[in-house]
Amino acid sequence: MKLHLILLRYIGKLCCEDAAKRPYVQIGPAWVTMVRTVHDQWSWRRHEARQGTRHRSRGRAAGDPRGRARTSGGDQRAEGARRGSGSPMRLRLPEERPTEPPTGYKIAHPVLSQDGTRAGFTGVSLGGALPYGVLADASCVYGLRHRAPNRRCDCGFHCVHDRAAAEALLCTAEHRTAVLLDVTVLGRYLRFELGFRYARQRVHTATVGACACGTVAAALADAGWGRPGWRALAPSCAGCLRGRTAVSLAGFARLAGEGLRVVARPVAVPAPGDPVLPGELGVPELAAEAALLQARLDWFQSQLARLGQGGPDGGPQVG
Ligand SMILES: [Zn+2]
Ligand SMILES: [Zn+2]
Repeated sequence: MKLHLILLRYIGKLCCEDAAKRPYVQIGPAWVTMVRTVHDQWSWRRHEARQGTRHRSRGRAAGDPRGRARTSGGDQRAEGARRGSGSPMRLRLPEERPTEPPTGYKIAHPVLSQDGTRAGFTGVSLGGALPYGVLADASCVYGLRHRAPNRRCDCGFHCVHDRAAAEALLCTAEHRTAVLLDVTVLGRYLRFELGFRYARQRVHTATVGACACGTVAAALADAGWGRPGWRALAPSCAGCLRGRTAVSLAGFARLAGEGLRVVARPVAVPAPGDPVLPGELGVPELAAEAALLQARLDWFQSQLARLGQGGPDGGPQVG
């Protein structure tokens, strides 16, 4: 009987040790990890990363004298009492202390302020009402008085780990004109199986898709919708601008600031022998191809002529 008890105790201890070593706590199908502090490697600003007061004794940096002062008494009973004061049902998530900020991918609509002096992004789902800049802090989208992200809310910035997963979101009709962002996750974050929810974000690169006509985008033009004070923009080639409010990709990057890069996603051009191209074309198909080429050539010549008119010596003769 006594041996039985000892064995049970031993197995219990083993299980506890095993749980402590695991990097993630698995809850249902997704991993959830609570994390503390991330340094912004550009601004070196330290972001506080505690959630709630119960973690106070564990949330300090290693060299923080306040933390040492508390524990220097070595009073094990006091430590035990403090730990026991919280709700026994609340799951304490393991922490990560990454040496570098994690990165991720997301999609968003580029936006331009009404006066055309500022540029940013607006989310495609929950955070769509709150446009954000290149470097931004999240706030609770429901206006609740807690810091985002909160475990019991779904506020905060969101991103996914894989670029392919973010690109897949661009396939839906309503997201075709959105841009792909690669971001750095800063501040407190919650890690999930597919991505992060987090407090602070830096956008590094915005990859702009093709114009609706299929040509590589040269600008971001008024998409015909927006938020109060902000016009949403969509990728456009030079030929499809047609007088709309627009900024070039470099112009958007300059207005957004903070070292943002804006690049156009190259368009895949089928090569001879490519399975995308049909092998045997009839006269009607070839005539359609010729008409398309002629239209592009006409547009190209009109652009050259326009440049020629503004040139110093009449410009090149086009005809
Ligand atoms: Zn919230
Ligand atoms: Zn176009």
